[in-house]
Amino acid sequence: MREHYLLLTPGPLSTTPSVKAVMLKDWCTWDDTYKHIVQLIRSKLLHLGRASETHYTSVLMQGSGTFGIEATIGTVIPQAGKLLILANGVYGKRIEEISRVLGISYRTLEFAPNQMVDVEQVNAVMEQDTAITHVAFVHCETTTGILNPLEKLVHTIKRHGKIAIVDAMSSFGGLAIEVEKWGIDYLISSSNKCIQGVPGFSFILSKKDELAKCKDNARSLSLDLYDQWQVMDQEEGKWRFTSPTHVVRAFYQALLELEAEGGVERRYVRYLENQQTLVRLMESAGFKTYLPEALQSPIITTFMYPDLEHFTFESMYLFLKEQGYVIYPGKLSDAQVFRIGSIGDVHVEDMVSLCAAILSYVTNNGE
Ligand SMILES: *Cc1c(COP(=O)(O)O)cnc(C)c1O
Repeated sequence: MREHYLLLTPGPLSTTPSVKAVMLKDWCTWDDTYKHIVQLIRSKLLHLGRASETHYTSVLMQGSGTFGIEATIGTVIPQAGKLLILANGVYGKRIEEISRVLGISYRTLEFAPNQMVDVEQVNAVMEQDTAITHVAFVHCETTTGILNPLEKLVHTIKRHGKIAIVDAMSSFGGLAIEVEKWGIDYLISSSNKCIQGVPGFSFILSKKDELAKCKDNARSLSLDLYDQWQVMDQEEGKWRFTSPTHVVRAFYQALLELEAEGGVERRYVRYLENQQTLVRLMESAGFKTYLPEALQSPIITTFMYPDLEHFTFESMYLFLKEQGYVIYPGKLSDAQVFRIGSIGDVHVEDMVSLCAAILSYVTNNGE
């Protein structure tokens, strides 16, 4: 078995050697040099989301992306609040599960995994159910790779005067998002997706005057977004509890590399070229995509199982892993699919050689 392989998964994903290298130094969690890095990260994240420091803050939270979502949902919805969840995949359903576990009042508007969240239906539910105070949805639903209409959805939510919470886990840093202009109240993402850091923390871009109303709301001590914000602001980059120092340092390096690449716009173009190359070559190897092109994001692509006697996902997975590639199983109950990510330190030539390996599996079972 190979020692190194390329992760073609939507996080953790392949990172550059230089991102990994900066983790070879130990950092002190309360030291000024380290705290300064944290502050730089917070300000760079706002800049990435085109949000001003006047109206927005960015808060870092220990744990994977789900911890950031749980911290947000558990902190920003008051006892008397009601959350509308828009779901067309497992990550939308996860927000529902978080709400259920935390005892938050919610309702879910569900769509099929191959259907975009429909703005008109959202509008109709909000008109009819005036108890709703907050609305949460996923931008790029990583379950399939479908892209939901972020700007239009936030526009509708804000027209009703409600709070918009966006899970932009697998899109932030890879797709341009105008947090302030579009009026997003809370946007959540994590270290190990399109910014191409290693896993270990999530971050939340928050509208300051909204988060300021959330003192003592949290249903958890460690996942209290308000308190985390207060300590990070007052103690200038200190986290309340031990922070993942190596991961934070690597993330800072990843942000510098994103800037060096030419920012979100250039990274988007690279991901798009990866994804389009992947689909073109997979189609010529006889595979079909699960989603029509119009609904597809450049982040991850879902493919149908091929109609081949010797095909099993497990055998193809193991064959590709031997060749140095890790792909991703499907997560749909009603379709036999697998997924391939196009994000991370991955380039068109990687897609070309991956597809050559897949073609070899298809044509002669890799023999
Ligand atoms: C990755 C991801 C998450 C978070 O998953 P973790 O395993 O907790 O990092 C949440 N939402 C979406 C859309 C994701 O892609």
